[in-house]
Amino acid sequence: MASISEKALRVHEHLIEPPTEFREKALIQDPRLYEQAAHDFESFWGQVANEYVTWFRPFETVLQFNPPKPGTKPPWIQWYVGGKLNACYNCVDRHLQGWRRTKAAIVWEGEPGDSRVLTYQDLHREVSKLANVLKSLGVKKGDRVTIYMPMVPELPIAMLACARIGAIHSVVFGGFSSEALRDRINDSQAKLLITADGGWRRGNIVPLKRFVDEALESAPSIENVVVFHRGVMDATLVPMRAGRDHWWHRLMEGASQECPCEEMDSEDPLYILYTSGTTGRPKGQVHVTGGYLVGVTASTRWVFDLKDEDIYWCTADIGWVTGHSYIVYGPLANGATSFMYEGAPDYPDKDRWWALIEKYRINTCYTAPTAIRTFMRWGEEYIHHHDLSSLRLLGTVGEPINPEAWLWYWEHVGGRRCPVVDTWWQTETGMILITSLPGIIPMKPGSATKPLPGIFPEVVDEEGKPVPDGTPGYLILTKPWPAISRTLWGDPDRYVEVYWARYPGFYFTGDAAMKDRDGYFWLLGRVDDVINVAGHRISTMEMESVLVEHPTTAEAAVIGKSDMVKGQIPVAFVTIRQGFETGDGLREELKEYVAKRIGTFARPAEIFFTAELPKTRSGKIMRRLLRDIAEGRVLGDTTTLADPSVVQHLREMYEEKYGEGS
Ligand code: ATP
Ligand code: MG
Repeated sequence: MASISEKALRVHEHLIEPPTEFREKALIQDPRLYEQAAHDFESFWGQVANEYVTWFRPFETVLQFNPPKPGTKPPWIQWYVGGKLNACYNCVDRHLQGWRRTKAAIVWEGEPGDSRVLTYQDLHREVSKLANVLKSLGVKKGDRVTIYMPMVPELPIAMLACARIGAIHSVVFGGFSSEALRDRINDSQAKLLITADGGWRRGNIVPLKRFVDEALESAPSIENVVVFHRGVMDATLVPMRAGRDHWWHRLMEGASQECPCEEMDSEDPLYILYTSGTTGRPKGQVHVTGGYLVGVTASTRWVFDLKDEDIYWCTADIGWVTGHSYIVYGPLANGATSFMYEGAPDYPDKDRWWALIEKYRINTCYTAPTAIRTFMRWGEEYIHHHDLSSLRLLGTVGEPINPEAWLWYWEHVGGRRCPVVDTWWQTETGMILITSLPGIIPMKPGSATKPLPGIFPEVVDEEGKPVPDGTPGYLILTKPWPAISRTLWGDPDRYVEVYWARYPGFYFTGDAAMKDRDGYFWLLGRVDDVINVAGHRISTMEMESVLVEHPTTAEAAVIGKSDMVKGQIPVAFVTIRQGFETGDGLREELKEYVAKRIGTFARPAEIFFTAELPKTRSGKIMRRLLRDIAEGRVLGDTTTLADPSVVQHLREMYEEKYGEGS
């Protein structure tokens, strides 16, 4: 790929040093950690494993790696061979031995304003009882349990109860439809389902149990359903099928608090989690006990600079990998206090998050660029009414963050006091791989910065040769890391094909990236999001980043549409900020703006204004559906779409302009 686009990125290449006050108190201040890891990465990860995780039996070999190849079967990647441990023991039991017994493990607030605090001792009691309940319903080591719940403490309790007895949990985000739930149950062949009557979202009831009943009409593997009463409706109004459905609180009444932790092999699966489906049909990633726990425990401590007195908030839903790794397993394994909020950011008003930070004196806020851009659209006044001085660290994940949004977050939320860690990783990677250690690495807005110690990314061309600095290419990992997904549930061949076939021996991320001359990584979106206009390679993400720098735009998605002459032409879909008018004048102005900032070859051929962009339920823009619309194709898998009416509307608008099947 040619390096024509570096110009646009370099604009933002000023370094921001970690604020002195933060740096002086940071847990990790010694950059030699990087050298140590590079020098002998296996012994580095061996030491980390012994330091951060409690093992029932020590491992014998740090890593056994047989690169996945077509025609071969797992195990391909084994970390901590021979080691025995239990993830729940590490997240709960081991904290009971010291003063953390009475420390808050989970601080929770529901959308209506109800709140709860669970100490590690409370968590231990609830988890052990539920683990006994699951056993009494016939759940055994290796069985799959689907969890479909609102953001209440019972969700992590359910996950940990599974881990305690060696059952494999599969959490399905509570915003998914019954259809998406059914597909995931059937794919994993789960035996038991844990759910709730419902949850609160923007003042409305999300009737989870009703969706469950629909899904179970064609999900025959489920034998029992455990229903937690969140209380969104009267228990008598929840239809319970005799013999299949059981109230959580009834089962817990008689359950014993004594439940030993199952001794798990390092490579025994801990959970299955399906990817967001941004690029296609979701893939059931299999994460295993030992390597995953080591990876998330260490990265949580390093990246979020966890202190014992912190209240740490990751705003993700636990239904996504971010929630698994950085609300549940990472923070709890470290004995941290993890904050959880059930509802919408704009309920009852658009300042709810800032009110929560003020009320609970939250220290760390880890969220997604899509949320940050939404807050920008709403305006700063919602923030400035609140005292956010407790914050000392900010983070982002999920999509490339445009420098404009980064700087806004740094300035208005963090008051220029809080380092911003832009964390690049995937459901597949299990843990953060590229981001700054906040006390050491100077930041560049828009860049995820550097790989964590012991992580080895590279940017390569089609043939797998490293490209020169400043040239966009394909992001790969040249060595495995502990938390890497081991296979796809029920589909090992797809695992090989998607991640390992393109560059044999190396993990292919599917993302495009560029490394600058300081060794900083700039993520450019999915490989498909790099388009070729008359021989020029352009990252659509760069064009989007430029578009949202225009004062009128809130969000933008750019895709490449095939063109007889130029190969591909850029087409932009734009949402504008409150208080501005759309029209031909603005359309031309925006085209000109992109042409000026990147080059005339990047001038969008067409701009569509839209009130909403199609997004996954995790808030990521689904460019593949926009491509389908632009090419006049049948829409691909839409089950992970948050609001199906958005694509319908866009399609109509598009066809009006270009005619059907253009
Ligand atoms: P699917 O794999 O099913 O298409 P998905 O890739 O959206 O879905 P996730 O695993 O949730 O599923 O997302 C990982 C992807 O999100 C990464 O590959 C990358 O494209 C993007 N991403 C995550 N964090 C960042 C970040 N900090 N900067 C840039 N991109 C990011
Ligand atoms: Mg992906």
